[in-house]
Amino acid sequence: MRIKVLGCSGGIGGVLRTTGFLVDEDILVDAGTGVGDLSIEQLCKIGHVFVTHSHLDHIASIPLLLDTVFGMRQEPITLYATRETWDILKAHIFNWKIWPDFSVIPNETNPMLCYQEVHVGETVDLGGRRFTPLPANHVVPAVGYHLEGAFSSMVFTGDTTSCDALWEAVNRIGNLKYLIIETAFSDGEIEIARLSKHLCPSMLVEELKKLRRPDMRIYITHLKPGEGEVIMHEIERDAYQFNCRPLYNGHIFQI
Ligand SMILES: [Zn+2]
Ligand SMILES: [Zn+2]
Repeated sequence: MRIKVLGCSGGIGGVLRTTGFLVDEDILVDAGTGVGDLSIEQLCKIGHVFVTHSHLDHIASIPLLLDTVFGMRQEPITLYATRETWDILKAHIFNWKIWPDFSVIPNETNPMLCYQEVHVGETVDLGGRRFTPLPANHVVPAVGYHLEGAFSSMVFTGDTTSCDALWEAVNRIGNLKYLIIETAFSDGEIEIARLSKHLCPSMLVEELKKLRRPDMRIYITHLKPGEGEVIMHEIERDAYQFNCRPLYNGHIFQI
């Protein structure tokens, strides 16, 4: 199972892209602005999109993806999300005002966009590639994902602030190799981090202390544009024992 980072920034500008991962050739985990860097041929191969939550930086490319491949792709695209997230997307994106409702296009029986409800702790298995929603704590209903391949696994927290239930789940994973965790703000913006239910470095340290698996590699994502260096400096200063690295666009993981 090959996971390529398509975007890992909190914003856009220059080379920055918002959150998204391409798994092998056919699966997205979140679909931020980096999906637009894929060729039309690559876009046509995407059949599954796992969504952590409804925020725009994680779903921005889904409407345009559907419109682009419609007519070129024979099979529907299946969107995996919690019922709460799906309801938000239906009400506020696929509402015919912001974008057409592709879950009834070309018709309700055979739509371009299919919905598959997911639940925390319940695994979706796509040909041996396993995706399990994890608890998260954000300003809208949100999950992270445990991705499990043939050899090892990865946890992507999505957007979350402090969340004990997440660590209880992560600490039960036996073959965890990579942890991708957000740190959206610097410590100078701790009030915004709390208000928006993200993390800043001092909050990240408290979360990582709950981790009982010291043998994994930790990557930091969702850095606010213009603050990346400050955030990583604060993390290196306060959480040096965890050896956190910044996640980069184009990074490829094998699990
Ligand atoms: Zn968010
Ligand atoms: Zn976000």
